[in-house]
Amino acid sequence: MDLKIGKLSKCQICNHSPLNKIINLGNITPCDSLLRPKQLKKRQKKYPLNLFRCKKCGLVQIDYVVNPKELFHVNYPYRSGITKDLKKNLEKISSHVSRGLNNKSSKLVIDIGSNDGSILKGFKKLGFEVLGIEPTNIAKIANKDGINTLQEFFSYNLSKKIKKKYGHASVITASNVFAHVNKLSDLLNGIHNILEDDGVFVSESHYLGSIIERFQFDSIYHEHLKYYSIKPLIKLFEKHNFIFEKVERIPNYGGSIRVYARKKSNKFSIGKTVKNLLKYEINKGYYNDKTFNLFSRKIKNFRKNFTKKIINLKKQNNSLIGIGCPGRAMTLLEYCKLDNKVIDYIAEQKTSLKIGLYTPGTKIPVKDEKNAFKSPPDYGIMLSWHYAKSIIKNLKKKNFKPKIIVPLPKIRFLK
Ligand SMILES: [Zn+2]
Repeated sequence: MDLKIGKLSKCQICNHSPLNKIINLGNITPCDSLLRPKQLKKRQKKYPLNLFRCKKCGLVQIDYVVNPKELFHVNYPYRSGITKDLKKNLEKISSHVSRGLNNKSSKLVIDIGSNDGSILKGFKKLGFEVLGIEPTNIAKIANKDGINTLQEFFSYNLSKKIKKKYGHASVITASNVFAHVNKLSDLLNGIHNILEDDGVFVSESHYLGSIIERFQFDSIYHEHLKYYSIKPLIKLFEKHNFIFEKVERIPNYGGSIRVYARKKSNKFSIGKTVKNLLKYEINKGYYNDKTFNLFSRKIKNFRKNFTKKIINLKKQNNSLIGIGCPGRAMTLLEYCKLDNKVIDYIAEQKTSLKIGLYTPGTKIPVKDEKNAFKSPPDYGIMLSWHYAKSIIKNLKKKNFKPKIIVPLPKIRFLK
């Protein structure tokens, strides 16, 4: 289960082969490798982006592992704390989880892939001792903000060092880490090692169901090696001596699941919410070929229509910009072949670390959104469409002039 870098031929959870192909999205540049102006002439590495499904355990996955050091490089530009909805949701985890603990529990909470410390801030307010693990330079922002953070990749080895220094943790959290990690066994063994026997491990993953139901094919990119549904996730955790006490669907990243895992023992049993979600998935066809054939056809049709519409607007001399620059936008832009010849720039909130950089592959400059107010273009393509509602509300308040195009789940032109 600890994957090598490069092409995979077996299922990432159960080792079954061959895998069934869902769709080939082409060769794509890693989505967070934004370019500085000086790097524009350099050729960027592209990697195949193919979506597959394992018929045995049901896991939907990609078949290529890009070196994590290349994906989560030290200048990784993503901060969870700047997305307001997300920040609120992350902070909520703390009040939710802490209610389930007893007074003998350890006061230590660890967050793996802690980014800017958004989750831990909530726990800190409740009086917990907190420790973040974050390999990128975002760790420095967290430390400055008073969230104790180790700038490292989490591993079994690191768990031994942490245990020696801090003892066991009563709560371990990992938000949107599970899909990213190629050494899953090592990660889960490490978590098992530092979690106290009555502790809880809370993990959030983007949910396959939301990807299919809300047609979020743009959330397929190299950082996400797997697209979880509950069935293969149960299997994976069981192998590492965990069971799921509870699962809930949450809105983060356009639809995720949050699972509450416990160490296997006679104290805990599989919860009703887990059994219900499994039933739901089977009813919805998440383990049938038909569902994925349809999904694949829909993606191809979308590209045909969307690209045509945008190119036509450009031919009619309209100016176009992108609104928001999430990782997923890179899949959309590169798959639909929309680059800097079509899109003038992408507007980001002024706090974004991406301003001044260029999108990988498509080389579109990322600029402060104030540009779009100063000299409004004709159209703005909502690339952060999974947060469209709150973003549009904000833009309208500030009297945003361009016509807005929402690409997904259905192409919409707003007035
Ligand atoms: Zn499998």
